[in-house]
Amino acid sequence: MTLSIVDIGKPAAAPESEALFSRAQKTVPGGVNSPVRAFRAVGGTPRFMKSGKGAYITDADGREYVDLICSWGPMILGHAHPAVQEAVYDAIGHGTSFGTPTLNEVLLAEEIVARVEPVESVRLVSSGTEATMSAIRLARGFTGRTKVIKFAGCYHGHVDALLAAAGSGVATFALPDTPGVTGAQASDTIVLPYNDLDAVRAAFVENPDTIACVITEASPGNMGVIPPAPGFTAGLRELTSAFGALLISDEVMTGFRLSRAGWYGREGVAADLFTFGKVMGGGFPAAAFGGRADVMGHLAPAGPVYQAGTLSGNPVATAAGLATLRHCTPEVYTHLDATATVVGGMISDALAREGVEHQLQHSGNMFSVFFSADPVTDFAEAKASETFRYNAFFHAMLNQGVYLPPSALESWFLSAAHDDGALDRIASALPLAAKAAASA
Ligand code: PLP
Repeated sequence: MTLSIVDIGKPAAAPESEALFSRAQKTVPGGVNSPVRAFRAVGGTPRFMKSGKGAYITDADGREYVDLICSWGPMILGHAHPAVQEAVYDAIGHGTSFGTPTLNEVLLAEEIVARVEPVESVRLVSSGTEATMSAIRLARGFTGRTKVIKFAGCYHGHVDALLAAAGSGVATFALPDTPGVTGAQASDTIVLPYNDLDAVRAAFVENPDTIACVITEASPGNMGVIPPAPGFTAGLRELTSAFGALLISDEVMTGFRLSRAGWYGREGVAADLFTFGKVMGGGFPAAAFGGRADVMGHLAPAGPVYQAGTLSGNPVATAAGLATLRHCTPEVYTHLDATATVVGGMISDALAREGVEHQLQHSGNMFSVFFSADPVTDFAEAKASETFRYNAFFHAMLNQGVYLPPSALESWFLSAAHDDGALDRIASALPLAAKAAASA
């Protein structure tokens, strides 16, 4: 596809995807099963993908893209990784669900416990949303308290009580108070600005003995990438301990991606509970929450806090997750970090050449670009950035065969399969994308 410089930053025709999207809209709300997929923030028609291999995905029109979403994180080894495929085929050959305990669940729990030191006990679930919802219930059950502190721009899945001022799709669609979440469900949620320890201290002082937990993205990626300021996570640890509340570190996005032990492996602050998802499912629905044995011991059937799931610990999902984690070697993390540095540098250089003010923000190998003059430290600053520039940038990259998140306020993800060929494709797409961002 050859587009002129005028059109490169605009949505291009994609006949097969357009036909599929209009067909989808007849039976699927908005044509998609998760809102950000619909391209509403950037405009144009979402690409229907039909296959993926390594660092590349191919759409219904037969166009191939370097994939910089990696299924929003899970595909850390790249698409259709042979070892993961083999594990999945093998698992399927033995039956796909029993509703009984299986060995793989124990192996996956052991793998997680071995990696993340403060996690002594783990319960498997099927989505990150379930993990955070259950962790909050457990924190309330354990402490006998009701209120929860969360941070504006942090997304923890579509848990009713956590949809207040959430990032990701909620941010993209400006739905801070989504209909269907009642005042009662949200009234126990205290929303504070990210990176603001004074606000956390003040909330504890104003709400004595009622705050069950603070939940935070370990290093946020759902309002774009905004790492915790030095001392912020440690400050949360001190304040929660001092005021008798639990600290929940949501590592659904960062877990097993930013290091063998996720963000915890980089920063080392021990939360009471952690939530995991994405990478640990290897592209299948598997997630988990875990932490201190005395807290986890309050879960049914060991304790009184109820939590369950028909497909929890599903044999195929656990096989995919185990194979993925076992292939996340130290070399994989070294490659991911180095590649993120290279790609980030290429983006910055291209934008700087066109005189576009921007911030390339990294959290290990997760990164995103803000069109902003100053570093972005919270949700208000993220929303104030020039997101309209991203839309032109996005389409210019898409039109040249590079698939970015269809929203400015999301992290970009790499895989072990992103090699020199993929980097060359990104490098050759960037000059025109930077021009499109400059003229937006
Ligand atoms: N927590 C974080 C930090 C996430 O990024 C997400 C999803 O993007 C979730 C929770 C929810 O996970 P899921 O989409 O699997 O429900």
